Amino acid sequence: MQLLKVTSIQRGCVYDGRGVRTTVFLKGCSLHCPWCCNPETISTDNEIFIDESKCLKNQRMQGRFCRSCERCGGEMPITACPLGVGENTVKYHTPEELYEILIKDIGLFAQTGGGVTFSGGEPLLQAEELIPLLQKLKQENIDVVFETTLVAPTDALIRVLPYADGFIVDFKLQPQMKLYDTIYLRRIKAHYALLNGKRITNRLVFVNELAAHREQVVSVLRELGIERIELLLCHDLGAKKYEKLGLAHTDCSADKKLIIQFNNYLKSKNIKASLLTI
Ligand code: SF4
Ligand code: SF4
Repeated sequence: MQLLKVTSIQRGCVYDGRGVRTTVFLKGCSLHCPWCCNPETISTDNEIFIDESKCLKNQRMQGRFCRSCERCGGEMPITACPLGVGENTVKYHTPEELYEILIKDIGLFAQTGGGVTFSGGEPLLQAEELIPLLQKLKQENIDVVFETTLVAPTDALIRVLPYADGFIVDFKLQPQMKLYDTIYLRRIKAHYALLNGKRITNRLVFVNELAAHREQVVSVLRELGIERIELLLCHDLGAKKYEKLGLAHTDCSADKKLIIQFNNYLKSKNIKASLLTI
């Protein structure tokens, strides 16, 4: 049985495609964007979120249950702490289990034109494991969207295409990603062409460094035939998660004035850009 590695499932999402949607965050991504606000989705390993502020041992106030905890020399894993100090970042689901969760909102999907969005991480990296679930969702005529960077094996993209109604494409044109090489552009162009006929939303996370590369961005968007793109202001909302994973991170929060200037520049080049506030 192929199990899906999920970090979280969020119901009632309104920014992950049309209508009201349930978004499934899948674990695993080959990129390491410094601004990633879901760092727990990058590694395929089961890292543990640790909230030190909740641990009684840190406050020298151990409860009786602490005696059996691994932090106090016992055998109880920290993830079993009744105060929720440790939390697994991965939840394993069979396609059937996930389907039962997703189908709960089928009425809401029908009313709003919504559906299910697979995000991550990079959801295409679990394409094969997703197929039985996708088949069940399509049997119920549920709208399916993939939020993807398209940085994934071509076979994986081809595998999910028959089940996907839409794609949110997250372009990696920020200089930090060092992806302005021809291999990245060639592959993205080929993958993007495969989406022909699907509903497509183009997105770009704006970091300040993009301002100095605006000509390059326009040139790539033109090469891909993109006339419309959503810009997301980079924020630092993931900071707490890095702390809970014990990872260092850099605050890449972007400047609102710069994104407005960048937005206006794209418009002046006949690219319909819009600012998306999430
Ligand atoms: S049981 Fe919970 S509160 Fe007690 S030491 Fe372990 S992690 Fe800390
Ligand atoms: S592509 Fe997305 S999930 Fe992967 S590291 Fe970048 S922001 Fe995080």
